Amino acid sequence: MREFISGRLVSGGGVCEGCGRRLRAGEKVYSLAAEVEEMREYLYCQGCRPSEDELPEGVLSLEPALAVEEPGTDERTLGIEVKAGSLCTRCGHAFEVREWLFVGVVEGLHGGFIYCRECYLQEKLEDDEE
Ligand SMILES: [Zn+2]
Ligand SMILES: [Zn+2]
Repeated sequence: MREFISGRLVSGGGVCEGCGRRLRAGEKVYSLAAEVEEMREYLYCQGCRPSEDELPEGVLSLEPALAVEEPGTDERTLGIEVKAGSLCTRCGHAFEVREWLFVGVVEGLHGGFIYCRECYLQEKLEDDEE
């Protein structure tokens, strides 16, 4: 089963691999985790949030995110979702379900292999049927 990660598209936009739809910057997109494996995930709890000039290299900005049991399953969630149990990059705190945190938006999601929400759901469905 393929793993997907969700994120927001950063500047420049991109094109959905599934339907070819043009995706705008700021849109919620999905990417195969394998495609971004080399990409480090930057997660911070409220207390560890770095200031703008402390951001690690490659991190463009910080976005609020919500820890959820299963990312990508709740239609109503508009922000970035992070799997509960993920650890704070700084202090190692494990995020609990419905806890707010901050994610470093990295450059990796602006291009490459991305899916819009509809195509992502379709892809997941196919995986489930296999
Ligand atoms: Zn699509
Ligand atoms: Zn922390």
